Amino acid sequence: MGPQKIILFGGTFDPPHNGHMTLLAGAIEAVRPDLVLVEPAGTPPHKRAGGTSAAHRLAMCECFRPLFPELVLDTTEIARGGKSYTIDTVRQMNVRYPGAQLYFPMGSDMLLWFRNWAAYRELLRRVVLVAHLRTGEDAAPVREYAAGLAAEGGTVLFAKAPVFPVSSTEVRALAAKGRPLDGLVPESVAAYIARHHLYTPAAGEA
Ligand code: ATP
Repeated sequence: MGPQKIILFGGTFDPPHNGHMTLLAGAIEAVRPDLVLVEPAGTPPHKRAGGTSAAHRLAMCECFRPLFPELVLDTTEIARGGKSYTIDTVRQMNVRYPGAQLYFPMGSDMLLWFRNWAAYRELLRRVVLVAHLRTGEDAAPVREYAAGLAAEGGTVLFAKAPVFPVSSTEVRALAAKGRPLDGLVPESVAAYIARHHLYTPAAGEA
């Protein structure tokens, strides 16, 4: 029998940071999955072009492995190229893992935007959302939005984890100024960024 409960963790991961770690750890705690797929986006629909190469982002996602040793870094969206739509990936995973329930972790910023996602009603039928607050924001509007999605037939769980308000944008800005990233990203990510001179003004893709 194949895996029954699969966490599909999608993101740009440019770079992965401790907010992502906290979200994934909380989702693993809530779901107790048989399999965790980390899915770095190709070119995400709502993000700037010209970001860090997929190879670099994929390599940095190794930082998630201590959370779940059999973690799979999946390259479906990178291989597809172009803009990444979660619904396309989810349809593919439903074919690849028939009968498995997919769980999709997301921060509150993404959750509150969910009705703008491509084919969101179909997505609601195909995945259980695992939400987590991104900042020390008021939880009430997030709970209310989640209740609205539940009324449309979706299922929204909340990750049990501390809130860790950091963003990749903030990490890139600090790295560009040569500032330390201690505590914001896993050590392996900080070392990778330094080794490859990522996010510095003269950064190459070497
Ligand atoms: P950027 O700053 O470049 O927009 P980001 O920090 O939002 O990036 P993504 O890779 O776009 O990172 O995020 C992937 C997923 O992780 C999204 O669902 C996002 O909401 C969630 N996420 C990101 N940061 C946090 C955080 N600090 N706490 C909880 N969830 C987070």
